[in-house]
Formats: sequence, structure tokens, C-alpha cells
Amino acid sequence: MNTPVIGVLALQGDVREHLIALAAADAVARPVRRPEEIAEVDGLVIPGGESTTISKLAVLFGVMEPLRARVRDGMPVYGTCAGMIMLADKILDPRSGQETFGGIDMIVRRNAFGRQNESFEAAVDVRGVEGDPVEGVFIRAPWVESVGAEAEVLAEHGGHIVAVRQGNALATSFHPELTGDHRVHGLFVDMVRANRTPESL
Ligand code: GLN
Repeated sequence: MNTPVIGVLALQGDVREHLIALAAADAVARPVRRPEEIAEVDGLVIPGGESTTISKLAVLFGVMEPLRARVRDGMPVYGTCAGMIMLADKILDPRSGQETFGGIDMIVRRNAFGRQNESFEAAVDVRGVEGDPVEGVFIRAPWVESVGAEAEVLAEHGGHIVAVRQGNALATSFHPELTGDHRVHGLFVDMVRANRTPESL
């Protein structure tokens, strides 16, 4: 059966919600935090949370380099909010020492939509997601200032880019894992399925 195994990077953030959303989208989902565990999954979600903390813990757990290498090799990855920041090749206002895994040629501005109490929800039309707009939950969300030629803009809100795909890497400023609507996770699971080699089926 072609059921992909998808890890959720479990260093910090809303790991549980992603595990539930991935399972609902027909993937086998498991938390991962060690290099050996990351080597075993077909794809990886980087959750929302706090990108500065995820960055620090990734170095501490020895997954910064292995993960960068897997992303470079084309492992499908999906980052929400802090996870989007972690997939940006460049952040505009990093904390000192803050690093990213990279993977998407984009410049991301952290906390661009304002502070915690300015969090909001909005209907977002996402390219590749059929039907009604997605309910976008924005919590101290970043936006994308600009993308390179290889990156495809999948959604905008208020004139700002909030969803991007480049090859096997997908990123959203908002949190579909918090809504009970699993269509964006479904899109990612399809990307992972499409990437699996016949011998791994
Ligand atoms: N502002 C957070 C950061 O910089 C992201 C917030 C979130 O993931 N909800 O990492």
C-alpha cells in the first residue's frame, strides 16, 4: 500500500496537531527529533512554534546539518509559520545566531503580521487546494517579502505572500493543522506520495 511515512519535527511547537492532521490525510505520522529518525521518513513537517527555539534545538539535537542535506536532496518538507521561517533561505530580522534549514528561495519577515494579540483568521485561496478557501489562522505570522524564480506563490493575503512552494518544499504563514480542514496536509501527502521511488512502495 502506498501509505507514506511522514515525520513531524518534534523539537518545539504544535507537533500533536500536525500528527493528527497528517493521519487524517492518510499518512502514517510520527514525531522525529534525532538524525536516525529523520533518515527514516518519506517527508517531514516543521511545525509552528518559535523559530528561534527550533533553530537552537536543531543544533543541540544535531539535526541542523542532516536536515539541510535531506532538504537539498529533495525530501518533501512542509513548514507552517515558524516552520515556514525554518524553510526560508533568508530571514529579514533573525535573532543573532538564528539559522534555518533553507530549501525555498524566499525572504521571510518574522512577526510581520504583528504581535500575539494581533493574531487573526482569514479566508485564503490556496492554489492546488480545491473547493472553498482555506481558513487561515495567523498567529504572530511571518509573511514572504519576495521569492526567487524557482518558487511558486500559492497564496496571498492583504497583498502579502503567505504560501509558497518550491519543488518538494511547501510553506504557509498560517496553521491548517489548527482548523480541522486537512486539505493542505492532503496536498503535502500527495507531494510525498509522488516523490516516493517505486522500490520504496
Ligand atoms: N513568530 C514566530 C517565530 O518567529 C512564529 C509564530 C508561529 O509559529 N505561530 O518563529
